Amino acid sequence: MSNDPSFQCPVCRARQTLRDTCRRCTADLRLVVRAHRRVAHLVAQRQRAQAEGDWLREQAVAVELSLLAPRR
Ligand SMILES: [Zn+2]
Repeated sequence: MSNDPSFQCPVCRARQTLRDTCRRCTADLRLVVRAHRRVAHLVAQRQRAQAEGDWLREQAVAVELSLLAPRR
């Protein structure tokens, strides 16, 4: 899980590290955490596909990334 304190709760906007529950409003952030983990996994897969020259895999990962995290 990220130790980056720049994560912002989508409910109350409290800045904190990525965690399952917001420290301020106790919102359930487990789905947000899962989405962040999936994005990190996909970014790593994209880098691996690029390094291996696997264009088809790179494109498949790019499609999912564009839906989940368009700016990545
Ligand atoms: Zn919150």
